[in-house]
Amino acid sequence: MAMDERGRALALSFAKRKFGEYYASGPPRLEPPSELIRREFGFLFFGEKFMLRHRSFSSAEELRAFLKEKVPSDAYHSTALYRDPGAEMENKGWIGADLCFDIDADHLEAPCKFEHDRWSCECGATGAGPAPGACPKCGAEGLKEEAWMCESCLERAKDELLKLMEILCSDFGIAYSDMSAYFSGHRGYHLHVRSEAVLRMGESERREIVDYLTGVGVDPSAHGFSISSGGPAPSPSSPGWAGRISMAITEILTSCSEEELRAIGLAPRAVRAILGERDSLLRDWLDGGGWGLRRRVGGKGWGAILKRAIEMASVKIDTVVTTDIHRLIRLPGSLNGKTGLVVMPLGVDGIEDFEPFTDAAAFEGEERVHVVEAPRLKLGGESFGPYRDETVTLPASAALLLICKGRAYPAVN
Ligand SMILES: [Zn+2]
Ligand SMILES: [Zn+2]
Repeated sequence: MAMDERGRALALSFAKRKFGEYYASGPPRLEPPSELIRREFGFLFFGEKFMLRHRSFSSAEELRAFLKEKVPSDAYHSTALYRDPGAEMENKGWIGADLCFDIDADHLEAPCKFEHDRWSCECGATGAGPAPGACPKCGAEGLKEEAWMCESCLERAKDELLKLMEILCSDFGIAYSDMSAYFSGHRGYHLHVRSEAVLRMGESERREIVDYLTGVGVDPSAHGFSISSGGPAPSPSSPGWAGRISMAITEILTSCSEEELRAIGLAPRAVRAILGERDSLLRDWLDGGGWGLRRRVGGKGWGAILKRAIEMASVKIDTVVTTDIHRLIRLPGSLNGKTGLVVMPLGVDGIEDFEPFTDAAAFEGEERVHVVEAPRLKLGGESFGPYRDETVTLPASAALLLICKGRAYPAVN
């Protein structure tokens, strides 16, 4: 069911009005970046496709005034510092860049995607979940995706963020005080690392960090997991990848179901052995042996377990964001035009308890909207929807979310 022209126009002017209210209120959560005068800014506007880039500001006040006057749907700043941020790309004079990470539900295995994501093709074919590479009916590529998010995939993304921060701290020696975490306002989290140590790193150095985090080229035998080595396997408390692989194997032994063990690629005999002797294998593993497990699953099975363990221990980041040293990233405290939620600064202690749909809500009060179609929505402990072609009164932030997502428009009597 699609929205008609009138609905779209109403939705657009409603969203723009609410965003305008937000920026006019002098939002306390707006967090202009450090060394603001060295940053490039970029903006998207309601109803327009192009991005205004290469903007620079001489002060935070000037930036705030711009937001208030122009009311962009999305606001970004460069991770980089430039001598002349307002110049064309080749004349900017790159000085250095923060090390930034983007964790997005798009890159996570989240079963809920099949409940709330949809794709459609111009031929009329539609389906649940992420879009396939090509339409199964007509073979067309570049299918239209409608991604949604829920507390479950955002929770997974948050786990990845915490894992990322832990690895950066323990394996790279980056202090938590040099890390700033943000809810992206949509399907994930951003992490900005600001320190002299990372500032001047080029793309290839950043690529190496990415490879380390994502487990590219990790050789388990170099970390003590060789099937031919007689020694005990590393324990979960070992430093670096050794400990992480060991921890992931512990998790596999503790909690993988029969189906999950099969999906790892284990033979039926190995699956039965793990399910039947779980406790003793686990004890053997944690007490520093691991030989019981290696014997039970055989060489091929052991290889499959290690592969899965590395996958589990790796951090699911959007690798391009981290390696691109000219990237624009969302301005903390601005609103995300896809949702109307705040790109929320979290603070290291605030991550664990952060609830995106409640804590990143920018508006109070209620709004009456006509919902074309929307999946269930949980907000502030309350559950709304699913809706289909009905007029409802919702908390303002939920209404704005549906409007920004193109699923609703303001109700007119
Ligand atoms: Zn098709
Ligand atoms: Zn989800």
